[in-house]
Amino acid sequence: MAKNKDDILTREDFDAGPSSYDEIEPNLYLGNLTAATDIDWLRKTEISHILSVDSCPLPRKIQDILPDITLKYMQFSDMPREDLLTSFNDSNQFIENALESGGKILVHCYFGVSRSATIVIAFIMRKYSLPFTSAYEMVKKKRRFVGPNAGFIAQLQLYEDMGYTVDCSNIQFKMYRLQVAADKVRKAKIVPQNYGDLIKPDPALLSTHPEPTVYRCKKCRRVVANASNVLPHKPREKQVWRHVSSKRYDKVQRHTKEGKAPMENEKKEEEVSDRFCDKTYFIEPLAWMPDIMHKVDGKLHCPKCNSKLGSYSWVSGCQCPCGSKIAPAFYLIPSKVDWSNVVQNIQSTV
Ligand SMILES: [Zn+2]
Ligand SMILES: [Zn+2]
Repeated sequence: MAKNKDDILTREDFDAGPSSYDEIEPNLYLGNLTAATDIDWLRKTEISHILSVDSCPLPRKIQDILPDITLKYMQFSDMPREDLLTSFNDSNQFIENALESGGKILVHCYFGVSRSATIVIAFIMRKYSLPFTSAYEMVKKKRRFVGPNAGFIAQLQLYEDMGYTVDCSNIQFKMYRLQVAADKVRKAKIVPQNYGDLIKPDPALLSTHPEPTVYRCKKCRRVVANASNVLPHKPREKQVWRHVSSKRYDKVQRHTKEGKAPMENEKKEEEVSDRFCDKTYFIEPLAWMPDIMHKVDGKLHCPKCNSKLGSYSWVSGCQCPCGSKIAPAFYLIPSKVDWSNVVQNIQSTV
C-alpha cells in the first residue's frame, strides 16, 4: 500500500522511538505508542482493537482513518503508586472480547515496557492461572523489554494473592485501596468522589445480614463496627499493605505472646501461629464517621452518645503501641469498645 501522509500520525510529544511490538499470544500484541499510530502496520496486521494505557489517548484522527477499529483508553501514568490493579477486570474483559470476536488486539503504552506490560501480564495470569513470576517470564520471552515498575509488580503479586481477580473483600486489597485513596487525599485534601465505595455502610443500620461479631460502644452499646470491617495487623508489622516491597510476610516477626484476638482471613500456612495485635483496632472508614470525606484527620466519636472512640488520619496514619505504623488509619481504642459475646468466648479459650 502506498504511503500517504494520512498514514502517519504525529503529535508533538511523540518520541517513543521506532515502532516496536511483539506478539505475546496469538493475536495479542504488546507494543509502544509508535506501533499504535503506525497506520500501515495496523492495517497490514489487521489490528481490530487497541487498548491504550497511557497518559494521553490516541489522536482522534485514527478513528477517521480506521473507522472499524475498536479503541479503549485507560488513563495511567507510569508511577509506582498508580492504581492499575483495580482496572484489571476491565482490561482483561476488553482483551478477551477482542480475541473471542476473532480480532487482533494491540495493548500499548508509551514505550511498551511498564504499563501495557502490566496489563498483558495480568491477562496472562488470569487466563492460565499463572503466578506473577511465571506470567512475567512468559511475556518477557516474547518481548525482552518488558519491565513493570516496582509498584505494578506489587499490584500483580496482590492480584496473584487474590486468585487472579479483584476481590473487594480481601483485606490486603482494602488496605491497598485505602492507600491509593490516601495518596489522592494528600494532594486534594478531600476524598475524591470515585472513592466513595471505600466508605462502608454503617453496621448499625445493616438489617439484612447482621454479622454475629460486632464492636459496640462501651458506654451506650451502639454497634460501631462489624468484624469484617477490621483490618488486622501483626505486632510490629510496618504496614499491612506495602506498594513497593512485595512480600509483606518476609519480615513479619512472631510475637505470639502479644495479641489475643485471632481474626479470620489469613490463609498462608506459615501464618497460622502468628497472632494479630489487639492494642488498636484498625477498621475501614464507615458511614457514621462524619468528617472523613473532607478532613484529613480528626477524632471519632460514638454517633449515639458522643463518647470518644478513636481517631483517624488519612495521611500521617497512626502508630500502634505494638510498634506498627499504619497509614491511612481509622481506629477504635480497645478500652472504649466491646466485642460481642461470640468473640469474647473465643478469646477466653485461646
Ligand atoms: Zn456510645
Ligand atoms: Zn498493634
